[in-house]
Amino acid sequence: MALIVQKFGGTSVGTVERIQAVAQRIKRTVQGGNSLVVVVSAMGKSTDVLVDLAQQISPNPCRREMDMLLSTGEQVSIALLSLALQEIDQPAISLTGAQVGIVTEAEHSRARILEIRPDRLEHHLREGKVVVVAGFQGISSVEHLEITTLGRGGSDTSAVALAAALKADFCEIYTDVPGILTTDPRLVPEAQLMAEITCDEMLELASLGAKVLHPRAVEIARNYGIPLVVRSSWSDEPGTKVVAPPVQNRSLVGLEIAKAVDGVEYDADQAKVALLRVPDRPGVASKLFRDIAQQQVDIDLIIQSIHDGNSNDIAFTVVKDLLNTAEAVTSAIAPALRSYPEADQEAEIIVEKGIAKIAIAGAGMIGRPGIAAKMFKTLADVGVNIEMISTSEVKVSCVIDQRDADRAIAALSNAFGVTLSPPKNQTDTSHLPAVRGVALDQDQAQIAIRHVPDRPGMAAQLFTALAEANISVDMIIQSQRCRINQGTPCRDIAFMVAEGDSSQAEAILQPLIKDWLDAAIVVNKAIAKVSIVGSGMIGHPGVAAHFFAALAQENINIEMIATSEIKISCVVPQDRGVDALKAAHSAFNLAGTKTVTVPA
Ligand code: ADP
Ligand code: ASP
Ligand code: MG
Repeated sequence: MALIVQKFGGTSVGTVERIQAVAQRIKRTVQGGNSLVVVVSAMGKSTDVLVDLAQQISPNPCRREMDMLLSTGEQVSIALLSLALQEIDQPAISLTGAQVGIVTEAEHSRARILEIRPDRLEHHLREGKVVVVAGFQGISSVEHLEITTLGRGGSDTSAVALAAALKADFCEIYTDVPGILTTDPRLVPEAQLMAEITCDEMLELASLGAKVLHPRAVEIARNYGIPLVVRSSWSDEPGTKVVAPPVQNRSLVGLEIAKAVDGVEYDADQAKVALLRVPDRPGVASKLFRDIAQQQVDIDLIIQSIHDGNSNDIAFTVVKDLLNTAEAVTSAIAPALRSYPEADQEAEIIVEKGIAKIAIAGAGMIGRPGIAAKMFKTLADVGVNIEMISTSEVKVSCVIDQRDADRAIAALSNAFGVTLSPPKNQTDTSHLPAVRGVALDQDQAQIAIRHVPDRPGMAAQLFTALAEANISVDMIIQSQRCRINQGTPCRDIAFMVAEGDSSQAEAILQPLIKDWLDAAIVVNKAIAKVSIVGSGMIGHPGVAAHFFAALAQENINIEMIATSEIKISCVVPQDRGVDALKAAHSAFNLAGTKTVTVPA
């Protein structure tokens, strides 16, 4: 007999008929000899309807009242599903987040789960009942009973957290698609079902816009080693397994906030090549990285900052042995760039050998903005300047001067209470697909801060302020170009936030920059972020080049580039987002012959 947590999403419980069908499915599973906890979302689009009602009354509604309002949606579906189960003689009881003892932070609208006190739930399971739990909600403390919600899409997180707390055998997420596909089938109908995907890959995809799973649900599955499956509510097909790495016994205290960082990583075998003042037009990144890939040079990080006038800077890191080749290719390209009409100034190449990459590794780094900010602050406090930043859900990496390495390692290990991880043996990932899936995020805004003084502590100051307001940030990129402004060297820093957070972010940053000469904040909402994700990317030179070429072929200009070991993200004009997604999907041959039909 297994203890299973199942979660049914909004579409799956969108009508009375669907609720009845779900009830039948649950009863069959119980008859198979299993104990069942069922988490449900609000019916259909009812959460959106509630949001819309609130917006009609208040353009900027108070978060507490929003939680009070939105949590009602799930309460409707748990009661109806319990009734449907009782009607077919399956004993069942519905419970709200509070009744299940889901205790969260007192952060309305994006609370993280601190602990689950499942005594009552377990009692009902022992009585032989199916326990139907309201997803997406909790309470801030057992005394105050303040209703909190976990953030949109958060029922997935409720389900996986319950599976962890109950030590369930596995967790199944039932939804309106057959499982996890290579991309969103609503945007690319040729998208193909995957039999399995790793937690790290899924965490990136979810965080980069694949709404099929809430990123925090994947984070919990990864941290607690919960077997997780995504499958269709309309069929018995097996769906997609999200494979967790082996884990040690982890405490359930502080469930979603405990220890985000597992270790510090360090790599001194890196060199940086920067190409300054390349024309801001489609095809440039593609040409550069194609030529580099032809020489079998595997590049690590790539960043392209926001344009400055008509030109961009592109920087990348390579292992030191390959630096000469990379530099030669880059030098060979520079003259060709002069033929572009924008080339008013010649491209310049800067090579730096004395750099090192230092990283903190864990899970859920984007979703917990305080972690990256703490890394920047820790480095600033010991006087370490950050040259390049790469963020992903599983790692924040900074390129620093190699001479600062010992100080940086000691400070970070101390700050996060972890040790330096031994250098990874180059695990052979060449058998894994270089690109597992692609995602599009159309709800992002780009924020650029022009003329930030180039000294230690700037990133710390800016991103700590945003983290204190719980604003998640991705693709933090400093321009390579350094301008001297009345004796002070300055660079631009650009990054991405959720569009809904952009006004608040701007308001928070404005007072911080007021004393900086000529500093300005520029917000651009007319952009989209398209990303490719795959664990096999390491060791497959040419993946980046292929991606950039696919965008160039569609004449899509790349406005920013940021990479981590397992993802490459490009910011493109918003009206080209879907084209960019389709181009990437087809370039990596992710389309199969089977077309997926999405129920309305
Ligand atoms: P639920 O209400 O069941 O939680 P969601 O709407 O939150 O459902 O998530 C399922 C939807 O996620 C699908 O209908 C699909 O449009 C979208 N989606 C985005 N990316 C992917 C992907 N890579 N694989 C499958 N579905 C995806
Ligand atoms: N009903 C909530 C939402 O629409 C939570 C969920 O469905 O996961 O965001
Ligand atoms: Mg969902």
